[in-house]
Amino acid sequence: MLILLPTFAWAQFEEWFEPASLRVDYTLTGNDKTTAFALKELIKEPFWSGSKTNLIDNLEFGNYIVKVYEPGTDHLLFSKGYQNLYGEWQTTEEATKVTKTFDESVIVPFPKKQVEVVLYRKDWEGRLIEGMRLTVKPDDYFIRTADNLGLPVYDAWIGNKDITKAVDIVILPEGYTQAEMGKFVKDCDFFVQSLFSYAPYDRYRTSFNVRGVMAPSQESGCTEPGDHIYRNTVMRFSYWTFDSERYCMSTDNRDIRDLAGQVPYDQIYILINSKKYGGGGIYNFYCSSAAGNSYSSDIFIHEFGHGFAGLADEYYDDSTSYGDFYNNDIEPWEPNITTLVDFDAKWKDMMDKKTPIPTPRVKKYDHIIGVFEGGGYEAEGIYSPHTDCLMKTFNGHEFCPVCQRAIERMILYYSE
Ligand SMILES: [Zn+2]
Repeated sequence: MLILLPTFAWAQFEEWFEPASLRVDYTLTGNDKTTAFALKELIKEPFWSGSKTNLIDNLEFGNYIVKVYEPGTDHLLFSKGYQNLYGEWQTTEEATKVTKTFDESVIVPFPKKQVEVVLYRKDWEGRLIEGMRLTVKPDDYFIRTADNLGLPVYDAWIGNKDITKAVDIVILPEGYTQAEMGKFVKDCDFFVQSLFSYAPYDRYRTSFNVRGVMAPSQESGCTEPGDHIYRNTVMRFSYWTFDSERYCMSTDNRDIRDLAGQVPYDQIYILINSKKYGGGGIYNFYCSSAAGNSYSSDIFIHEFGHGFAGLADEYYDDSTSYGDFYNNDIEPWEPNITTLVDFDAKWKDMMDKKTPIPTPRVKKYDHIIGVFEGGGYEAEGIYSPHTDCLMKTFNGHEFCPVCQRAIERMILYYSE
């Protein structure tokens, strides 16, 4: 079976898909109580950089999942979990008062035959709710072919030329003018150097490709509404997202995706040309961070922990703008936090049997794997694996063993 299974999956890819991507652009509209999906456009992009063997995402991390089926059956051909900015916004105070629309995209392999693409979201109890079902015919002439924007590409690191066996990261420059493209190239190099200086990434250099798409902005820097600073930049990132000063994100999904699609990509990373501390990272959505800050290395890799491996923040005393972020009656999907509802599915196997569950935050249990109350922004009811981790502070400059294992599993998912 070990030999047959990948061969079967590869044959499944060849039967149903071609090595290109179908990008589904859609909107989510709602407030803290409602969510409606609406289709905008289907786009064909030139590369398929995901795995050709791991077509089904058994982890199902994220509160949203896209699934591709053989028409009229439950024969699953492809699936992938993700998270989005809309879902975070729904937990803010603002969402109790107004209704908003957010743009986003999902990417699936481009079908050779008619398929059904279904988008699901998870409700508060973690159940899958169907949001949108599309019948996609590959010869539909309304599927737009993505534009080649003719932008120069900087190959910052090519570890594996086979894009279906590597984690392909695209780096996009926000707030770098044409004259600052040399600085962007240096910042891409610094990103690669940072990535490979943290375990477990340092052991998997040949499983990564990193490419920068050199798209200039009209103005240098980044918008900071809280300080009345507004800049004309290529993807319209902004500090003070959800009125949180350090949270620097953009709702300009289409421009981000058009730029990313110029090269093969599994993960999008936006470097912000600013010295101001900040950034953000959302699982299988995108990550961002300021490139010119003294904490840059740690921020780069912390945010990539969210975006790539679905890691949760392990801190709980910070003043984030989120309301009730986790339902403590179910097990959260993030691999590095637990409510103890289903701890067997988490890192129990990594703990010494003599370590108590939960583990008291006392000196005796420093630097060992435990299950310590506090994590995921909450001081009670959510537990995290270690007294320190890069997902908690920038003191130790390393991931805890539980986060390292989660990252390693994700690297293998893309590179096998
Ligand atoms: Zn950790």
